[in-house]
Amino acid sequence: MRRRRQCTTWSGSAVGVQCQRLTRHDGPHGASPTSTYDEHWSWSDDDLDAIAVFTGTVWFHRPDRDRTGKTARFLGKWTALGLFAALLWWVDSWVTAVVFLALEVLLSVRRAHFVDLGRFTAGVWPVTPAAPAVIFGVAFALHGEGRNAKRAGIEIILGPVVVGVFSLVLRSEWPAYKRSQAAFDDRQKERRS
Ligand SMILES: [Zn+2]
Repeated sequence: MRRRRQCTTWSGSAVGVQCQRLTRHDGPHGASPTSTYDEHWSWSDDDLDAIAVFTGTVWFHRPDRDRTGKTARFLGKWTALGLFAALLWWVDSWVTAVVFLALEVLLSVRRAHFVDLGRFTAGVWPVTPAAPAVIFGVAFALHGEGRNAKRAGIEIILGPVVVGVFSLVLRSEWPAYKRSQAAFDDRQKERRS
């Protein structure tokens, strides 16, 4: 992506009015106070003091500034959280500080993350938007649907995030599952050799 920079020319008489057109534009420079302002100031290189007001907005967001803003917000947020954790450590204990930070990381999850532990998998994922909003909830994960479904694990809902541990297959089916997995691995190995 090519970076498009803002024209760096400032007006002569109006204070703090920088041209908001892109660099190397033709014609006079222009600037509007806000993105929704319906007028803009215009001046030319020949006379930086001669400002004319025209209708229409001239407003340009520098693309690289938006990204810097995002990074700054991210750093600002985590600096604030870090300071608050340090305060908790100081007034209470390091356990409180660690729990606070862990919860903060957990609640900012936007994508699903899972870790496989043998027959079980543990994970954290965002609540589906269609689900009813709850602040705290506990639910069972089930194998299958309906009255014959067996309990597979437990899910804890913390506002926008679900933390859960559940088995991938039923205990009765686990040996067969392992055997089919081993057979699959062997086939893969044979194909490669
Ligand atoms: Zn300009």
